[in-house]
Amino acid sequence: MSLRPRAHIHLSNIADNWRTVSAAQVGGVTAAVIKADAYGHGLPHVAATLHDAGCDHFFVAHIHEAEVTRATLGSHPNIYVLNGPSPDEEALYRENALIPVINSSFQFRTMADWLVDGVKMPRGYVLHFDTGMNRLGLPPKDAHDLAAASEAQDPVLIISHLACSEDASAMMNAHQLEALKTLSNAFPDVPLSLSNSGGVWLGADYHQTLTRPGIALYGGGHPPEGLILKPGLTLEAPILQVRQLEAGDTVGYGATWRATEPTLVATLAIGYGDGFPRSASNKSFAILGKKRCPIIGRVSMDLITVDVTNAADLARPGVYAQLIGPDAPLEEQAALAGTIGYELTTGLTPRVKRIYES
Ligand SMILES: *Cc1c(COP(=O)(O)O)cnc(C)c1O
Repeated sequence: MSLRPRAHIHLSNIADNWRTVSAAQVGGVTAAVIKADAYGHGLPHVAATLHDAGCDHFFVAHIHEAEVTRATLGSHPNIYVLNGPSPDEEALYRENALIPVINSSFQFRTMADWLVDGVKMPRGYVLHFDTGMNRLGLPPKDAHDLAAASEAQDPVLIISHLACSEDASAMMNAHQLEALKTLSNAFPDVPLSLSNSGGVWLGADYHQTLTRPGIALYGGGHPPEGLILKPGLTLEAPILQVRQLEAGDTVGYGATWRATEPTLVATLAIGYGDGFPRSASNKSFAILGKKRCPIIGRVSMDLITVDVTNAADLARPGVYAQLIGPDAPLEEQAALAGTIGYELTTGLTPRVKRIYES
């Protein structure tokens, strides 16, 4: 038996979540964002599952991720590279029929150079305009100039990205929507895309022609009340040792936790070397037999220590405890550790064995 932490990847849940987002969307198509190894869930498996479920549009950040997606899915789906093209990548884009997202005037000139011989990109390209994120994106004031310059081959999609989609009351959402609508006047017939997962939950005004959900597919983020997303993965770690503490005993590096009464402690084979964050020290919990068992002491590289006094009957070496999953919701664990679901799942290292379940 292996004493390695493991993540069961619930591929059918991920497909169900994609259908749930799709059903919440008023018109248009629902893409899938599978960058960063599908947020730690395994890009090839997730891509194949969602393609089978009917998804035809996949967004990644890097061209390398796009190549893997193309190799996995074959020639049919559209694959968009969010971080955009670099001058030496023309052959890769063309051979793999990838769709570059143009984020800057430098990238626009790169694209223009590739089109100079009048040979179109196989599936066109996307223009990304910045409407307030100030991270990537072309300036909206350049929209008319770019529209004139791009006559050689009209863009297939105009996108922007919301800064505050998780907060439905943020005025910034409406401002960004308005800015996108205004700049899109320069491109009368080109479809639009604004929303990530949080944007979908903002309602029909934000759906446009295509949405780009990521975290929702993996069961994270903050969907509206009553809308249930299923966990994309269940993270578990085995107990290596169980010990009885007396009042006054301390646990772990820095002796940051001290028993005030007799306490049963289980040591689990998972730590920040697996991507379980050190900031969860004395904050998050493990689940043993449906019981919440607080993490006590510091998370170390390979180990955590958990108070299992309330689950003593199950606390023995080789038994697996859940850290993220149906009984340990991703966003709740993330919040306890002072982070977000995205960072937790994306951060899981290769030492965590992935077990793919259909
Ligand atoms: C990562 C990303 C998304 C997906 O965001 P989620 O919040 O995970 O749904 C969508 N669009 C862009 C431009 C992104 O970078």
